[in-house]
Amino acid sequence: MPKQRRRLTGLFLICSLQAQALVIAPINGGIAAVTLPDSDSRPQVSYLGHRVLVSGHAPHWRAIVGIPLDRPAGVEHLEESSPIVQSIAFTIEHKAYPEQHITLSNQHMVDPTPTQLLRIHRELKEETADFALFDGQEPSLSIDHLPVTATALDSAFGLRRFFNGEERAPHSGLDLKAQEGQMVTTPLPGRVVLGRELYFNGGTVIIDHGRGLVSMYCHLSRIEVQPGQILHAGEELGRAGHSGRATGPHLHWSMSLNDVRIDPALLLSDELRLQLGLDH
Ligand SMILES: [Zn+2]
Repeated sequence: MPKQRRRLTGLFLICSLQAQALVIAPINGGIAAVTLPDSDSRPQVSYLGHRVLVSGHAPHWRAIVGIPLDRPAGVEHLEESSPIVQSIAFTIEHKAYPEQHITLSNQHMVDPTPTQLLRIHRELKEETADFALFDGQEPSLSIDHLPVTATALDSAFGLRRFFNGEERAPHSGLDLKAQEGQMVTTPLPGRVVLGRELYFNGGTVIIDHGRGLVSMYCHLSRIEVQPGQILHAGEELGRAGHSGRATGPHLHWSMSLNDVRIDPALLLSDELRLQLGLDH
């Protein structure tokens, strides 16, 4: 992939996916678009053990692959299982994300008790199972309205996080500035798979958009949807708040592809990227 290597940031725009503008960034925390060998039927492909979204029309197909934040630069492999069993290589680059230091007054949000840890692990298992869903129709990969009306980010995706000086998991979503009680809507149509209070995430809604694209909204003060409910784009899912591990009201928004949390900003329309002051 010489074209990708030439660019230091590894970022470039493609507009040919269902006429959608999607920023393809083959980096840790980003998205790779991998051209698959021609085939009359839609190939079935997986990456790190998870089914991958395949887009296109016979005979031309492309895998749209979410890349984990902790993947080093180098050669990665997709495993095709149908119609042909083969391994397809692609290259990713490394992005070094900045650090963020956060002070929390509740030390149990940094070092939970054994009982709290049991709850956290149980919830994480459930969350992971929701992110691993691979059902339904091919989703839209282009977002032209934000889940909350916002003109600024609170925290970017991918930051290396230190809570009260202790390093914890990096920031796996985007934080949008929001007022307590501000309406939160789904940016894409989908089916609600979780809607309840979790330890770190607070009031949480998870939505399955289809074929491995799943979104999550956290720290909500109110949840207005039930699991199983089908939502249209723009429909309300709850209200913003500061429940769980949050220093103030904001909306934490995660997007996941093939069970990998990716930078939601990569799915935003050019207009929204400009509105939020993002440089890609
Ligand atoms: Zn967040």
